[in-house]
Amino acid sequence: MTKYNIETEAVRFSKDHADKGSFNVPIYQNSTFEQFVPGQWEEFTYSRTNNPTEDALRKTIAALEQAQFGVIYSSGLAAIGGVMELLNLGDHVVSMADIYGGTFRYYGQIAEKRGVEFSFVNTTNIEDVEKAIKPSTRMIFVETPSNPQLQLTDLSALSELINGRDILLVVDNTMATPVFQNPLVLGADVVLHSTSKYISGHTNVVGGAIAVNSEELYNRLKFLRKSTGTNPGPFDCYLTMLGIKTLPLRMKQHQANAVAMAKYLEESDLADNVLYAGLQSHPQHELAKSQMSGFGGIVSFELLDEKHIDAFVERLQLFSLAVSFGSVVSLIDCPAKMSHKDIPAQQRTEHGVSNSLVRLSLGIENAEDLIEDVEQALTNL
Ligand SMILES: *Cc1c(COP(=O)(O)O)cnc(C)c1O
Repeated sequence: MTKYNIETEAVRFSKDHADKGSFNVPIYQNSTFEQFVPGQWEEFTYSRTNNPTEDALRKTIAALEQAQFGVIYSSGLAAIGGVMELLNLGDHVVSMADIYGGTFRYYGQIAEKRGVEFSFVNTTNIEDVEKAIKPSTRMIFVETPSNPQLQLTDLSALSELINGRDILLVVDNTMATPVFQNPLVLGADVVLHSTSKYISGHTNVVGGAIAVNSEELYNRLKFLRKSTGTNPGPFDCYLTMLGIKTLPLRMKQHQANAVAMAKYLEESDLADNVLYAGLQSHPQHELAKSQMSGFGGIVSFELLDEKHIDAFVERLQLFSLAVSFGSVVSLIDCPAKMSHKDIPAQQRTEHGVSNSLVRLSLGIENAEDLIEDVEQALTNL
């Protein structure tokens, strides 16, 4: 579908969608566009429906995901909401248990009230997914790798499992990014992103995106976006496209830093339970190698004592405490108290998000500097 490899596509697309010799798509800061004949619509009408800056981003996301169609949203959660709007009263969803906290909150406090039912499953085990499927199941929703536990779901196996059934396989690909994984190629029906993370990459945008191959799904999602008003602003689209130009380059450095950090932590006596799919010790290392072309830039681990979390965070100089990940700057999150606090404590611990778990989002700084920083913060806690 795309002519070039992703590194080339990432820098070419803006030029291909710009005119007047520009290397960047302009910011069309318009609400409405002039029409010429009543009832006869020009390509662009009103920015809640479509906008030329957004249109270029939409095509770019589709190209990066090797998809036919893209839809852009005001946030990752707006994209998730768009997918949930595809469901009807009485429909059942099988969701991965280790799911993003905001997605979990959406399920329980919005979708369930509209009569959608959920089952939570450890999707690393395909048999458990099979057991959870009912006649009313219309969607399987996974993140792979998941967050914060870095669990992988075998997408080809899942897609084979639901082949021929009226069930959509939805994959949140925010962690892997299109640089390391293309879920549609592995058989998913819908791939979605929080572009607030790696795709924009500079902690300056909140945005979301979906890519699909089915024209029917694309039309329904576009209709839902227009009807619920979850469109992005053109300036955010512009910033996101600027970020995409260096996405493949950044991912290489995020990953190199993550590999170095994971190896350091695994060998250290000061850290426990280091989670990173790039480590030989990760139970799904082989699946990671077959389904992804890289392991990503997030490493989670447990401190030896949960009481030390605050002191550890305070001592760090190069990791800023923040929700979110995927920035050029290194970040640290304490899932139980921050990104995943909306998941009830019991469910959280049952699924392995302990109070001593921390999640490092490795930026693009120098690996030795980052390791030294973590080492000094862990020593004599
Ligand atoms: C951040 C995130 C979201 C939500 O995206 P926003 O842009 O913050 O609305 C969804 N899924 C995952 C995996 C995320 O990390």
